[in-house]
Order: sequence, then C-alpha cells, then structure tokens
Amino acid sequence: MLHTALEWVSHGQVAHYMSLHRQEGDISELTTYFDTVVDWVSATFADVYREMCGLEWGRLYETYHQQPYAADEVAQRVAALMADESIRQKSGIFEYVLGGEQVPSLLNIRVFEDRTKRSAYTRQTQQAKAAGHSNCPYCVQEGKANRDRIWDLKEMDADHVTAWSRGGATDIANCQMLCKTHNRMKGNR
Ligand SMILES: [Zn+2]
Repeated sequence: MLHTALEWVSHGQVAHYMSLHRQEGDISELTTYFDTVVDWVSATFADVYREMCGLEWGRLYETYHQQPYAADEVAQRVAALMADESIRQKSGIFEYVLGGEQVPSLLNIRVFEDRTKRSAYTRQTQQAKAAGHSNCPYCVQEGKANRDRIWDLKEMDADHVTAWSRGGATDIANCQMLCKTHNRMKGNR
C-alpha cells in the first residue's frame, strides 16, 4: 500500500529520474531506487498515514537516509503530533521529525482565534487599568516610556505564553496579548 501510494504521487520525481537516466535505458535501476526509498520510509516510520501521500520522499530520502533513527521513538513522536490539534499541516510532521523537530513552520501551527484574542485583551486591559499600568506585560516589565500605556487591540498581537514547541496549547489559558514591538521581539528570541 505504501509502495503504491509513494509511486503514485511521486510521478513527478520518477519522470525527473527517468530523464536523467534515459541514456542508460535501465528501468530496473529506477525500480530499485524507488524500492530503496520505500524500504527506508517503511523502516523509519512504522505506521502508514494517508498524509504521506504527495510528499517529496525522494528528497527526504536523499537528505535524511544517512541519519540513524530509533523506529519506536519516531513512531511515538509522529503519533503524538498527529493527535496535536495545534498542527494544521499534518503532512509536515514526517519532515519535522526527521529533522529533529527544529522547524515548526513545517507544521503551520494554529494561530489564536479572534474571539480568543479579544477575551485575552479584555481581561488584560481591565486588570492593567485597575493596576494603573500598561496592558502589555513586557512594557510594564521594561519600565520605560510605555510603562503606563494602554494599547488598542489592533496595536497588539497574540502570543503563546508557553511556546507550542515546549508544549504550550493554542487556547485562552496560554494566550497573552503583547504590543506589536514586544511580540516581534519575543518571536525572534
Ligand atoms: Zn510592550
């Protein structure tokens, strides 16, 4: 099943490979190559997911096949990430895990919904006004010119208090509004 799925969706790469090896006229070499890729995918990922379809397995094989992976750890991580509601692009999980979970942008992590942002904004702003300081906690911490500034909702962005990659959920409990400057600074850390 995996073999079929990969061959079926990899036809672009097959064509490329065939154009490179046309002179040799050796179709069995192509077959062998794809068997190698498929064997590697099977050995690396114990389970087959429909999200595997359409991925550039040739490229992933070339990039990662020399690295050692513990199949049970990989299976566990993939299963856990598949169940994570914050991940919008499940097909990115395989490359994310192969690469040592360094590039969350492969996963298109869910952003906070507008109503969540509004709730967080209202809560923070009420507390800030009562306490007489800015509704951006980082402006308060910094203690400079904006220490007492109440930002408008449109001047702020939502931030994961605990980063998603450290287990933080995309929900109201883990949402804080920061002024755009501080949100950018935190994002670049
Ligand atoms: Zn700020």
